[in-house]
Amino acid sequence: MYQFGNGLIKCLNCGGKYRGKQLRNHKAYTCSTYQKKGTLACSNFTIKEEEIAHIVSTHLKLKGVRVEGSLGEHVQVIEVRDRGYRIYYKDGTNSVVNDNSSPYGTKFKY
Ligand SMILES: [Zn+2]
Repeated sequence: MYQFGNGLIKCLNCGGKYRGKQLRNHKAYTCSTYQKKGTLACSNFTIKEEEIAHIVSTHLKLKGVRVEGSLGEHVQVIEVRDRGYRIYYKDGTNSVVNDNSSPYGTKFKY
């Protein structure tokens, strides 16, 4: 079961969708174009489900939203560009995850 499946994650680099992928010990998402055609078609960028879940639940907690059911239900769309992504929530707010201004690791903005 992928909380952010069903086309919720869009790839802005190729226009495709990110699909769930079971890695050794965690669930993750990668671009379906990359999964089908490899690195020449799109980039091999992986987002762990755990990471999105952490950001979404922290964001909702800060906004005082009580979470019932799947975290994905609060998300409108997640747009991925290069090695960063932005989560758009159904209430119109968003979280930026690594806006590519820092070459070191991931930057969170709630
Ligand atoms: Zn892509």
